[in-house]
Amino acid sequence: MPAMKCSLCGELAVINMRRHKLRLCAPHFLDWFPKQVLLSVQKLEMFTPRDRLLVAVSGGKDSLALWDVLLRLGYQADGLYIHLGIPDNGYSDDSLRHVQAFAATRPDAHLHVVDVAATYGESVPQVGRRRHRAQKMCSVCGLIKRHLMNQIAFDGGYAVIATGHNLDDEAATLLGNALHWETDYMARQSPVMPATHPKMTRKVKPLARMYERESAAYALVRGIDYIEDECPYSVDAKSILYKRLFNDIEERSLGAKAQFYLQFLQAKRDGRMTFPVVDPVHLLRECDRCGQPTSAPGLCAFCRLWSHPS
Ligand code: SF4
Ligand code: ZN
Ligand code: ZN
Repeated sequence: MPAMKCSLCGELAVINMRRHKLRLCAPHFLDWFPKQVLLSVQKLEMFTPRDRLLVAVSGGKDSLALWDVLLRLGYQADGLYIHLGIPDNGYSDDSLRHVQAFAATRPDAHLHVVDVAATYGESVPQVGRRRHRAQKMCSVCGLIKRHLMNQIAFDGGYAVIATGHNLDDEAATLLGNALHWETDYMARQSPVMPATHPKMTRKVKPLARMYERESAAYALVRGIDYIEDECPYSVDAKSILYKRLFNDIEERSLGAKAQFYLQFLQAKRDGRMTFPVVDPVHLLRECDRCGQPTSAPGLCAFCRLWSHPS
C-alpha cells in the first residue's frame, strides 16, 4: 500500500480522518486539533481567555490532551487530580504519576491533588463496597468526583470546570440514555452545563466534537505520556459496548457517530426536542455540613456517604 500523504503538504500523514476527508502529517495535525477545539469553545461560548479554568485530569489520554491543548491555546488552565484509591495494578498511584509528570513540564500550570482516602478516611472502592446494596461503584465514584470538582472550583474561584469527554463518550452516553428513555439525563446532556446556583461552577466539554481516535492520536503525536490502563471498574461498563457498536456502525456509515450526537444537540437548540426543566434553582438549598447546593433536606448526597454507613 502506498504511504499515506498529508492533504496539505504531501509529507507522510499520521492520521486519516475520513469524515473530514483529511489526512494530516504530524505538524499539521498538531496545528489542526487545537484549532478544532478552539472552534467548539468559541461557537458554544464555553469560556473566554479571561476565565480561569479547572481541568479535571485522570491521567488518561483525553484529559491530558485537553489540558495540553488549553495551555497551548493560551488559556489559564489548572489541573485537578482526584486520587480515588483504586489499588488494582497500582491504578490510582500510576495515574497520579502520569499527571504529575505532565504538570512538571508545564510550570505555569498548577495541579490540585485530592486524596479521597486521606481526606475522608475511606477510598472510593471502600465506600463503594460499604454501600454496595445502595449504589454501584461508578455511581458512588461519580458522586464523589462531581462534589470534589465543584468544591475545588468554588474554593479556588475558577470560572469553569473542563472535562475531557470526547464525541465517542458523548454518543455512547446518549445511546445508553435513549435506550432507556432517561429523559432527565438527556435534558442535562450538553457540552456546556451552566451553573444553576452561585456555589456551582459551569461545566464544559471542549473535546465533545472530537472523535476518540483523534484525541488519542493527538496525545500520541504530542508525546504525552498517559496511562493506558482503563479503570478496573470500567471493564463491564455498558459504555464500552456502545462505543464498539458505534465503531461498527461508523465503518459502514461514515460520520454516523457525529450525526447521532451533534444532531441531538442541534434538535435541542432548535427546540425540536424539549424536556422539562431539571433541578430548578429554587429547589436547591445549601447542605448543612459542606454548604454545597443540594435538593435534599439536611445533608447532601456526598456528606451522607460518610455519615450513614449502609
Ligand atoms: Fe470511577 Fe472507575 Fe467507575 Fe470511572 S470507571 S466512574 S473512575 S470507578
Ligand atoms: Zn502536512
Ligand atoms: Zn454536603
